[in-house]
Amino acid sequence: MGEIRPYQRCTQCVMDTTDSKIIFDENGVCDHCRNFEKNIKPYWKPQENRFEELEEIAKKIRKAGKGKEYDCILGLSGGADSSYLAYIAKEVMHLRPLIFVVDTGWNLNVAVENIEKIVKYTCYIADGTERVDTDPFELVQKAEELGAGEVIINLIDNDGMMKGYDIDLVRGVSDRVKVPVIAIGGAGGIEDLKNVLKNGHAHAAAGGSMFVFYGRLKAVLITAPSEKELTEAGIYQN
Ligand SMILES: [Zn+2]
Repeated sequence: MGEIRPYQRCTQCVMDTTDSKIIFDENGVCDHCRNFEKNIKPYWKPQENRFEELEEIAKKIRKAGKGKEYDCILGLSGGADSSYLAYIAKEVMHLRPLIFVVDTGWNLNVAVENIEKIVKYTCYIADGTERVDTDPFELVQKAEELGAGEVIINLIDNDGMMKGYDIDLVRGVSDRVKVPVIAIGGAGGIEDLKNVLKNGHAHAAAGGSMFVFYGRLKAVLITAPSEKELTEAGIYQN
């Protein structure tokens, strides 16, 4: 039998001996407080706008992920912290995270709802103004049953961003129908075309901005990859 520990509460915070592994120093300050002072506080500057630093990190991750399906992995519980992180990673840092969820069966309904809102695709009609309550994978199968001869799939959020196609979406659509699938939305260079054909299983890749905007200043220059470039990339056969 272990000794029964006398009740003690940290002199700085609310933590107490209900945490069986808590350690207090001679001033009655707990190890959580000491960890915060030593390892977190020196780097934690909530008042400073450190967006540029974050963007530097994002740039490195995006560069390392070029031509790959995902550029980072993100654990999602459906709670406020990880849901917010998923938003920051995708919408602010423009990353393509592989979202990893473990549902042990004890997830709260609100967490499950949050996860669905974050990872599920929604379809829109009327130039992206009207939301329809079907996911794109069901919708393309219905379209094929009704006689559609081909499918053009466009992730509106990616359109004009030139940061790569959404490979999961394109592959999900391509693998569910027999008719040809054309991907659009996100092409930024030849690598992206190659990636969506190879990993997204698309039959054709379409783009807009990559043929129009050129260089760091996005100068307008109507252009297209040459036959040589496409052949070298293994996309186009003579
Ligand atoms: Zn404490």
